[in-house]
Amino acid sequence: MKLERLDHIGIAVEKIDESLAIWEGVLGLPLHGTEEVAEQKVRTAFLPVGDSEVELLETTDPEGAIGKYIAAKGPGIQHVAFRVDDIDAALAELKEKGGRLIDQEPRKGAGGARIAFLHPKATGGVLVELCERK
Ligand code: ZN
Repeated sequence: MKLERLDHIGIAVEKIDESLAIWEGVLGLPLHGTEEVAEQKVRTAFLPVGDSEVELLETTDPEGAIGKYIAAKGPGIQHVAFRVDDIDAALAELKEKGGRLIDQEPRKGAGGARIAFLHPKATGGVLVELCERK
């Protein structure tokens, strides 16, 4: 398995519209669109920076992962995502190596990506996402 590069950093926010005042307005990152991912109960906004992106995540449901994260920890960096070429092969390899996965199979992410999360308890508290984009 090869992690090709940092794909994006996922940042949990209370309100995307308010956060854009900083990320777009002050830091000057271009907003490349927003998308609701119903399956994950989030609305996302993508702001490319170099080869990577800042992904703002706003919950659409207090019971969703981002809703629970903000309730427990407040807004902030929620996950880091690495690009992989073949997520099925990456997950198979991780299982073989005893990696602890949240997602045994890839699920649908924003922007048509296929994604899977590793368990933060197995990565020193960092929620790691693998992300395949074709
Ligand atoms: Zn992500």
